[in-house]
Amino acid sequence: ALTAGIVGLPNVGKSTLFNAITQAGAESANYPFCTIEPNVGVVAVPDVRLNKLTELVQPKKTVPTTFEFTDIAGIVKGASKGEGLGNKFLSHIRQVDAICQVVRCFDDENITHVDGKVDPLSDIETINLELILADLESVDKRIDRVGKLARQKDKEAVYEHEILVKLKEAFENNMPARTVEFTEEQMRIVKGLHLLTIKPMLYVANVSEEDVLDPSDNEYVQKVRAFAEEDNAEVIVVCAKIESEIAELDEEEKKSFLEELGIEESGLDQLIRAAYSLLGLATYFTAGVQEVRAWTFRQGMKAPQCAGVIHTDFERGFIRAETVAYEDLLVAGNMNTAKEAGKVRLEGKEYIVKDGDVMHFRFNV
Ligand code: GDP
Repeated sequence: ALTAGIVGLPNVGKSTLFNAITQAGAESANYPFCTIEPNVGVVAVPDVRLNKLTELVQPKKTVPTTFEFTDIAGIVKGASKGEGLGNKFLSHIRQVDAICQVVRCFDDENITHVDGKVDPLSDIETINLELILADLESVDKRIDRVGKLARQKDKEAVYEHEILVKLKEAFENNMPARTVEFTEEQMRIVKGLHLLTIKPMLYVANVSEEDVLDPSDNEYVQKVRAFAEEDNAEVIVVCAKIESEIAELDEEEKKSFLEELGIEESGLDQLIRAAYSLLGLATYFTAGVQEVRAWTFRQGMKAPQCAGVIHTDFERGFIRAETVAYEDLLVAGNMNTAKEAGKVRLEGKEYIVKDGDVMHFRFNV
């Protein structure tokens, strides 16, 4: 499964946010979760379409799709060179598909900041520098190896060498790999380097309870937003403290609590959806009277692969997929009316599934 790693300096609110994630996961666990690592939190992906489909079909049960966050502790200044817990975190970050960096954007005299004052940009710089240094080391090693061959005019080595030098230059200017422009072909080689700074980054600005309603006045948040734009990254604003309180409520309580605060969607739900789309994930639905369910696939996947998300047999024996767009089904009101209106398509092996497709797979066993 794809996962987003949560990183950040000490005392910025990581644990508070991660607890909210695990708590929210436990609350929505009306179906069995497999046993997972203590540093992995599984959450249901919020999706209003699933609620609408449930109203429409009235199934026995409804199952949301899930998403994983991994808590990655231990980044401090100098960590990539062995300070603090050392560079163990690097191998953990290597295993995640996207990075959510929690940044402290709240003042609180009672909570010490590792550097003595709240300064989100300096915090971001500290963390990003550790990641960049680690990548610089990987690229330097690779340059050593490939450089020799490149000097012997080995064509492939020359090609890779050029890419490596471009990356090295970026790192030396404090820029992450994700800001460097590459062609699709070059990108294949870049991916093979397993760099940390190529991973999509989401900054999670952790603000105070007072600021969560209207964070636009928060100067820290403004700075983070401006920085993220340069950094080819996204920003989500949360108040980790409130999120941990919300996570303990059930659906109904949560709804009225948010209404009271005047918040449309909890920060955690925004974070889940942002991380999900950051990873290029999308959702299709199955909608039977037994079960209405959301399934995760990678954008660009074809119908048989998507069927394989449910079960490998579905992929192996795939014949075709009865498909209707969620909006069309909603307008029609039920499957038969949608069929009469010509909105239900029979799609074959080459069909690229779209976000929101409601699918019924036909397959040989
Ligand atoms: P971590 O070291 O990054 O995991 O940070 P923690 O989650 O342990 O948080 C450090 C301290 O900051 C704790 O005392 C939290 O209660 C507090 N804290 C976390 N988020 C917020 C917040 O949004 N507002 C305020 N005022 N305090 C927070």
